[in-house]
Amino acid sequence: MIQIQAIRGMHDIVPAQIGDWQYLETILRQLTAAYGYQEIRSPILEATALFSRTVGEESDIVTKEMYTFSDRSNESVTLRPEGTVGCVRAALEQGILFKQSQRVWYMGPMFRYERPQKGRLRQFHQFGVEAFGMPGPDIDAEIIALTARLWQLLGVSDHIYLEINSLGTAEARTLHREALVAYFNKNVDVLDEDSQRRLTTNPLRILDSKNPAMRDMLNAAPALLDYLDEESAAHFAQLQQMLDGMGIKYTVNPRLVRGLDYYTKTVFEWMTHDLGAQGTICAGGRYDGLVEQLGGEATPAIGFALGLERLIDLIHLKHEPQVAIQPHAYFVLLGESTVQSALVMAERLRNSVPALRLLTNTGSNSAKSQFKRADKSGARFALILGEDEMKANIIAVKDLRGDFNAQFSWDELIQFLGGICERDRNG
Ligand code: ATP
Ligand code: MG
Repeated sequence: MIQIQAIRGMHDIVPAQIGDWQYLETILRQLTAAYGYQEIRSPILEATALFSRTVGEESDIVTKEMYTFSDRSNESVTLRPEGTVGCVRAALEQGILFKQSQRVWYMGPMFRYERPQKGRLRQFHQFGVEAFGMPGPDIDAEIIALTARLWQLLGVSDHIYLEINSLGTAEARTLHREALVAYFNKNVDVLDEDSQRRLTTNPLRILDSKNPAMRDMLNAAPALLDYLDEESAAHFAQLQQMLDGMGIKYTVNPRLVRGLDYYTKTVFEWMTHDLGAQGTICAGGRYDGLVEQLGGEATPAIGFALGLERLIDLIHLKHEPQVAIQPHAYFVLLGESTVQSALVMAERLRNSVPALRLLTNTGSNSAKSQFKRADKSGARFALILGEDEMKANIIAVKDLRGDFNAQFSWDELIQFLGGICERDRNG
């Protein structure tokens, strides 16, 4: 016998845990619909070049974290480490960006070869949105409002805070980069090894460093905000006005740069102090150059991604885990001779009451163990069919969470179960 275990950092989600996921997914579908977003699904596996050429050759993702391998025809393929570039590739390839704006969302697994720890997995899940074709700060503000509404719906607003920054245009970043390199060269003795390497490859990322020994030096470094081009500065000022107008609180963090290369202008992160080291829940920004870089017409765009595992950890600070969707009724069968009829009846019940969630007992068990199973299933009612009920053409119904007991004819039963489903639908 061999026993094979899941790959490190890749977690199973079992029925006892699925309630949180179903709950979140329902809320996210409502939320995106409330802002006019449509779902997009693209493959989990993409050509490696898609990521290596766009995410940034010096980014953590590309240098250390990608699951890349050769397939059987020696093509280099990569399990997607993030959702944006696949989404842009798909939108371009399917022609849905041509002369039109689009609001899309996605949800699914992402893969990064990182050191597994709390809040950091090798297969994790992201939900994200992307809005294409809208250049102004209004869509930036609306997207941030969408995320703020999500925290509200989930009851976690008081655990989470917003930081924003503007990265400006490529030209502004070039000017800033020159000033930054000059500054870092003056302070080269304070730079750690990683940062010294980045000095020639991606000096902006040095600002992202969390090394406490470099903190003071970094705080005094030239700030990108002081180098912003006029248009980006105006965009950023308008965004702040709009956020103020909507009553969304934020702080401007001039050192917020994001790990990926493709961002321009607005960037933002929602963070928490309450989950330990992995405190970023949701991160996003504008990426006006990416569509063109991938061969499309120049198209302004903005999006964000949030980590569902970290979000669920955050929700657990406030709420018990959600219970998975449970059956309305458990069908208890007493006596061998009822099994055949019950299977037929159960099918007829599902025909007559399509919303009914009915769990039928299988395998002959004692009445006692069937009621135990019924209870454990979470069902509210037991439907009971014994030989007496069969003869009398009735079904007994027992409320497993209360005192209600009844004997119903077939028509009465259908009406009763229909009513339960109706009430369930209306919350
Ligand atoms: P970090 O600084 O934590 O490494 P990141 O900048 O790499 O984050 P993004 O690429 O912006 O993260 O991804 C957006 C969100 O996805 C993160 O804010 C986080 O919630 C989630 N996330 C990223 N990497 C992981 C991971 N390895 N495990 C679980 N969630 C993750
Ligand atoms: Mg990371």
